[in-house]
Amino acid sequence: MRHLFISDLHLDPGRPHHIQALRDFCACKLQPEGRLYILGDLFEAWLGDDMGLVAYADVISLLKQQTEQGIELFIQHGNRDFLLGKAFAEATGATFIAEEEVIEINHTRVLLMHGDSLCTDDIDYQAFKQQVRSKSWQQDFLALPAAERLQIAQHFRQQSGLMTANKHADIMDVNTSAVAEVMQKHQVSTLIHGHTHRPMVHQDQGQTRIVLGDWQGHFDYLDWAENDTWHFLRQPI
Ligand code: MN
Repeated sequence: MRHLFISDLHLDPGRPHHIQALRDFCACKLQPEGRLYILGDLFEAWLGDDMGLVAYADVISLLKQQTEQGIELFIQHGNRDFLLGKAFAEATGATFIAEEEVIEINHTRVLLMHGDSLCTDDIDYQAFKQQVRSKSWQQDFLALPAAERLQIAQHFRQQSGLMTANKHADIMDVNTSAVAEVMQKHQVSTLIHGHTHRPMVHQDQGQTRIVLGDWQGHFDYLDWAENDTWHFLRQPI
C-alpha cells in the first residue's frame, strides 16, 4: 500500500492557488486504498469546527471526496490547527492521529510528529502551547463568539511574529537531544515530521529523520511505495 506524507500546507481562503495545488496533488498522486498522512498545519488557522467548516468548505469537500473514494486520510494536529475537532473528522472522514504516532509500513516502524514539541529551545512557544492545549482554555475559547476568537488569534499571531523576529534561527529548529530521546522512547530509527519548514532528509548513525517542508512556491512530499522504497519529492505550486 502506498503511503504519502505532507505537512504545513497552511491553507488559507486568501491563497486559493494552494488549495488548487492540494486538489492537483490529490488527483495525481492518490490512489484508492492508499493512505495520506497530513502531519499538522493543514490550515493556517482553525478557530473551531463551527467557523472552519464554513471558511474552508472547499477543502472539506475535497478531503471528503478522497475518503469516499477509499483513500485513508490521517491528520495530526499542528500548532496552527490544534483545534480541529470531531465535526471536522466527521465532515471529511479523516482519522486523527496522536502527537507521537508510530505506524508500521511493511516492517518498518515509523514515528510521525508535527514537530513543534521537538523545538524545546523555544521556551516562549512551549509555554504558550501548554496554555492553549489545556482543555479548560480550549473550552473557554470555543465558547466565545467568532469575532472575539478572530481578535484573539490575530493578537497571538502579532505576538508570535514579534517574538520570532528577535529569535535566533536555531532556537526555532528541533533540539537534537529531544529528537534522540523521542526516537529512543518509541524504539524507532525513522522519524517523519514537519513544522520547521526546513525540508531535508537527515541520515546519521542508522537513524533517518525526514523533515517535510511548507507550501511556499513548492512543496515536498514523501512517497513510500509498496515495495518499501521511499522518495522525497518536490512539486512546484
Ligand atoms: Mn507548525
